[in-house]
Order: sequence, then C-alpha cells, then structure tokens
Amino acid sequence: MSEDGLSVRLDEPLAAHLPLRTGGRCEAWVVAHTIEGLTRVVRECRRAKWPVRLIGAGTRTVARDGAHRGVVLRLGAALGEIRPGERWVVGASCPVPALVSAAEGEARGGLEAHAVVPGSVGASLRLDDGWDELVEAVWAISRDAERELTLEEARRRKLIITKVALRLPLLDSAGRRRLAKARALQRPVPSASVYAVPRKVSVREVLRSSVLERVRLRGIVIPAEAPELLVNIGGGSAADARLLQRSAIDRARRVRGIELRDRVDWIGGR
Ligand SMILES: Cc1cc2nc3c(=O)[nH]c(=O)nc-3n(C[C@H](O)[C@H](O)[C@H](O)COP(=O)(O)OP(=O)(O)OC[C@H]3O[C@@H](n4cnc5c(N)ncnc54)[C@H](O)[C@@H]3O)c2cc1C
Repeated sequence: MSEDGLSVRLDEPLAAHLPLRTGGRCEAWVVAHTIEGLTRVVRECRRAKWPVRLIGAGTRTVARDGAHRGVVLRLGAALGEIRPGERWVVGASCPVPALVSAAEGEARGGLEAHAVVPGSVGASLRLDDGWDELVEAVWAISRDAERELTLEEARRRKLIITKVALRLPLLDSAGRRRLAKARALQRPVPSASVYAVPRKVSVREVLRSSVLERVRLRGIVIPAEAPELLVNIGGGSAADARLLQRSAIDRARRVRGIELRDRVDWIGGR
C-alpha cells in the first residue's frame, strides 16, 4: 500500500474480483484505503485521461471477457466504518448486510427494505430505493475533495459516495417482523435479479413459467431455484451470461408477453 493509502495491481484479472467470476484483465486494479488516496486516483486519472470504473461489491456488475482499458477502482474496507450515534455515519464500502445487522443489534430500524441486499452501502445509495427518508447527508468526491451534499445531488452527478449520515428510527416489533419476513423470502436462495421487471411482477414466477429449467450455456447456468440469477459453475464467460440473459428476456416476452430489462452494469472488454 502506498503512503497515501492506495494498493495498485497492474494487468489484474477482473474475474478474481467480481461475483460472477467473468472478465478480462484491467490495466490497473486500484483499492483506495484513504480519502487522500481516492482523491489522488480520481485527479491523476482525469489529468491523464485514463478511464476510471468504480465498483462496490460487484453484485450488479459483470465484467466482459476482453481486456479492460483504464483503472478499476474499489473503496477499501477502511472506508466502510460504521459509527453509531444520534446519527449513524457509515462508510460507503460497508456491506449493506453488516449495516443492517449492526443497526438491529442497537435496536435501530428503517433498513428493512435493504435486509437482503448483498451490495455495498455506496452503490445501494446510488441505485436502490428506500434510502431517502433515512439519509441526513452524504459525502462524495467533488472537485478533487470529499464534500458534503444531498443524496439527490450525488445521484444526479453520479459522484463517488464516500460516506453517509443516517437517522435510524427505533426498531419496533413491526420492524422486526418486516426484517424476519425479508430474510425468510431469501430462503432457500437470495431473491436478487439480473432483470429489471415491471412493477408488481415476480421475476421468479415469470421466468419459472417461461424459461426451460436449468438452462445452461457452457459454464453459465440459469438455476431452477432462482431463475432470476445467472450462476457461473466454472469457466463461464460474460458472453455466455449475456446470451443466456437475452434468451430469457426473449422467452418471457414470447411466452408471457412481459418485457424484462437488463439490470446489470456490463463493464470493460468488447
Ligand atoms: C443475490 C443478490 C441479491 C440482491 N438483492 C437485492 C435486493 O433485494 N434489492 C435491491 O435493490 N438490489 C438487490 N440486489 C442488487 C444489488 O445488490 C444492489 O443493487 C446493490 O446495491 C449493488 O451494490 P454493489 O456494491 O454490489 O454494486 P456494484 O455492482 O459494485 O456497482 C453498481 C454500480 O454502483 C456504482 N457504485 C459502486 N460504489 C459506489 C459509490 N461508493 N458511490 C457511487 N457509486 C457507486 C458502480 O460504479 C456501479 O455503477 C441483489 C443482488 C444480488 C446479486
């Protein structure tokens, strides 16, 4: 790690860092352990016109098979601290499940909607519903420094969120029931999806009724238990994942007349 808190690996395989285990090599894999390191990467890459791609836990990102130009950047665990208090200050790299459990441990609620999100707090603030009422302020990298601003502004300007101040209400019995229900829905497998669906439509039900069971394309499988997921059983490629996802979208349209959309961030390669 460099003095200002950066770990850098050149020519790094992205498959080693993303849940679906696909992806070619990126020119530089960078982990920022400090705000100084983070602002330095952003500033110097901008000056060098070198593309920077930020990832969190990667649960909504799939790296394509080819080479990836530029930097792939992750916030290190040191930028994921949870500081409970009147208002909770939480670092963006904190895993959402860790925050939900820490809050529950302090009888704090409001996070039930995120009980099963396996991603990072920073990405979830950017992408997922259900945060607005809890967020008092966010900090993000803007003009080469960490600045306090509103969640709306951080989202609109697609800024790198570094931390958030949350007001968490007391966890009452109704909140505990919601948490338990959200977790129960996870059994036997998580209910995520690589598909965005029209409101009130269960992507699992649509895919179960329109996609053949256990469809497999070389190393990528649509699991029968959770057809909304794509699983790499070994050696699977991003191209195969994309092909399977597209064929599932086609079948749902032809068999059920329902329009599923892609919900994944495909990065790098071509
Ligand atoms: C098994 C499973 C279950 C899931 N369940 C749910 C669910 O119940 N509800 C739900 O809403 N989603 C769910 N998801 C989707 C996903 O987990 C969430 O959207 C989550 O917020 C993504 O977080 P991540 O850190 O993995 O994002 P990544 O895939 O790493 O990144 C996604 C995007 O966020 C950006 N980003 C990452 N970090 C930051 C940051 N600090 N500041 C700004 N932008 C950033 C990246 O640049 C990228 O564009 C699920 C996914 C899986 C695989």
